Amino acid sequence: MAKNSEQREEALRRSEAEIRAILDTVVDGIITIDHEGTIQSFNPAAARIFGYSRDEAIGQNVTILMPEPDRSQHNEYVANYLRTGEAKIIGIGREVVGRRKDGTTFPLYIAIGEVHLGDQVRFTGIVRDLTDFKRMQEEVLHAQSLAAIGEMAASIAHEIKNPLAGISGAIEVLEETMAAGDPRREVMGEILGQVRRLDLTLRQLLMLSKPWKPETQLCDLRNLIKRVSTSAKEQETFALVRFLFKGKNSVVAPIDPSLFEQVLWNLFHNAAEAMPDGGEIHCTFGQKSGFATVRVADTGSGISPKAQKRLFRPFFTTKTRGTGLGLAICKKIVEAHGGSISISSEVGQGTQVTLSFPNSGNASGMNLG
Ligand code: ADP
Ligand code: MG
Repeated sequence: MAKNSEQREEALRRSEAEIRAILDTVVDGIITIDHEGTIQSFNPAAARIFGYSRDEAIGQNVTILMPEPDRSQHNEYVANYLRTGEAKIIGIGREVVGRRKDGTTFPLYIAIGEVHLGDQVRFTGIVRDLTDFKRMQEEVLHAQSLAAIGEMAASIAHEIKNPLAGISGAIEVLEETMAAGDPRREVMGEILGQVRRLDLTLRQLLMLSKPWKPETQLCDLRNLIKRVSTSAKEQETFALVRFLFKGKNSVVAPIDPSLFEQVLWNLFHNAAEAMPDGGEIHCTFGQKSGFATVRVADTGSGISPKAQKRLFRPFFTTKTRGTGLGLAICKKIVEAHGGSISISSEVGQGTQVTLSFPNSGNASGMNLG
């Protein structure tokens, strides 16, 4: 008899140890609360997800893990469920917003189950942090929209390119028949300008869609930028813009010069358009652990935090005449070189775009293969 109860106790201890091991090692957060919402257990995954230690969480109300409005309504939800038995979330999984100890919020999947222990009720929540999943979803969506644009662009470009060339050719012919002071020349110029804009949009679309490969050669980025800024200064848009150069005298990287020029044109245009009353464009050159870096900073209007999240999305523009393709193209070009592009900005303070391209860190003796 005594032996039997010893065996039973041993078995109980073992199964308890097993349950603890499972709770401690699962990747999902597991949290139990009582009928008042007080946290009774909090496994290590929950601690990792929310940033509270087990000891900090146990005994607190579960509302510490939620932002408003759930935070102030949760107790009422539970009371309501206990009174009416009407389940809004229990037994059903759902996506909600969680709140970490540091106050930041994040998307969270939660499934809640109900357990009765004698006359007491416990709710068990199994939670999973969806932050990475959401980011991946965004990336897939981005890739899909690029692919869709690609297909569309290729066929549209085909349809439009030739008629467009025909229009500008015809206008040029007409223009030639007009006397030098003919006021209609101005109208022709306006039409040509619009045709060029269409042509630019078309080329940008093709840039995003057609597969291409950079033809790299070892270039001094500083020289290239100086050249592009000099041509930019010849344009009306840059009349009130001052270019300044800082940092290393020479940074070299294997890049495709004509693609890199396109990146610069886009960045310079964005900067100038953000400074309609004039301002400065600071180009800073650096070399850091195998990467050549170039920063293009302006003293313009800056970018709102909301817009900052969408800058690289094709067709995102805040301009009435923008295509919203410039930065998407920049990103594609830079990444095709194995590099990266990042933007930081503050409204009213200006914008900094940082490009980095892999190089061996040493201009001489670099093998371009
Ligand atoms: P577009 O110039 O045709 O609008 P882009 O992809 O080049 O398209 O830029 C997208 C948007 O990002 C712009 O409409 C603008 O709101 C913002 N932006 C980009 N660069 C800057 C900058 N240097 N200063 C302020 N806003 C910028
Ligand atoms: Mg642009």
